[in-house]
Amino acid sequence: MENINWSELTFGYMKTDYNVRTYYKDGKWSDLEVTDSDQITLHMASTGLHYGQEAFEGLKAFRGKDGKIRIFRMRENALRMQASCRGIMMAELPVETFEEAVIEAVKRNLRFVPPYESGASLYIRPLLIGTSPQVGVKPGNEYLFVVFTTPVGPYFKSGFKPAPYLILRNFDRAAPHGTGTVKVGGNYAAGLHAGEIAHDKGYSAVLFLDAKEKKYIDECGPANFFGIKNNTYITPESSSILPSITNKSLMVLAEELGMKVERRPVPVEELETFEEAGACGTAAVISPVSRIDDLEKNKSYVFGNESEPGAVSVKLYNKLRAIQYGDEEDKYGWVTVLEV
Ligand SMILES: *Cc1c(COP(=O)(O)O)cnc(C)c1O
Repeated sequence: MENINWSELTFGYMKTDYNVRTYYKDGKWSDLEVTDSDQITLHMASTGLHYGQEAFEGLKAFRGKDGKIRIFRMRENALRMQASCRGIMMAELPVETFEEAVIEAVKRNLRFVPPYESGASLYIRPLLIGTSPQVGVKPGNEYLFVVFTTPVGPYFKSGFKPAPYLILRNFDRAAPHGTGTVKVGGNYAAGLHAGEIAHDKGYSAVLFLDAKEKKYIDECGPANFFGIKNNTYITPESSSILPSITNKSLMVLAEELGMKVERRPVPVEELETFEEAGACGTAAVISPVSRIDDLEKNKSYVFGNESEPGAVSVKLYNKLRAIQYGDEEDKYGWVTVLEV
């Protein structure tokens, strides 16, 4: 740790000391196991490898000015992982076991929780994967749940900076009654090709439209979308959007700031009317959107002054970060303070 340059950290993998695991077999989960190897052994016929039985989560731990470590909305992640398990027929992990494993994973890697001043944090990645060897297509009966951690840098190295997004109509991330609402690797695989096209053209990510009609905004890369206008926080509602915990939190904070909050289908043309737009998720909290290009329709939507984030986005971002780092009171009980 002595050699970690906290301010140079990116959003990447760095081996930490321990990870925590439990195995599902014969209808029950084993006691938690702490391991120092970052390898897992899988049968080559595992359902996770062949039939996509794999779900994950992402959350963070923050070191406050007071030196205390806070984990943000862990219970929400536990519940969402259960929903993912139901979505692709995997064994559900009890919420308490999830929380216990997350806490243990952080406690065993305290030296990797970045100092307050760095603006960095400890990313926590829970993973649940089907491990039973099968060739026939049916839900497996053995699973592995593992939680590992890795320190990650402040998402915006050069400050909170808006970036452009691209609308692509010839790719779908998730179908209306598909797996879009659960956090499974398959949805990411489905979005990779479109994402690379966007990156190659100089965009931050793809703004996906609804798969059926291509009329409404869906997700913004691997993040939820929101727009701001007339003192209102507007975020799309659809049956293919992953319920972001960051978005859920921002809606509460927007109301606290005296804004109206609307969750409803958002037609593409409405982009024209937004004063600000953003992508939200655990990795960055808010990634301000500078511009959305719709090349097929020869249209460009620009938000405010393209090079600076909007005032509301900045306010929401600062407020959420302040709660995460313990600088602002945790009114809603979102934070688990570690006893260490
Ligand atoms: C994880 C994820 C998000 C963001 O969710 P948070 O809980 O805010 O991190 C948004 N969209 C997709 C597709 C995701 O997988």
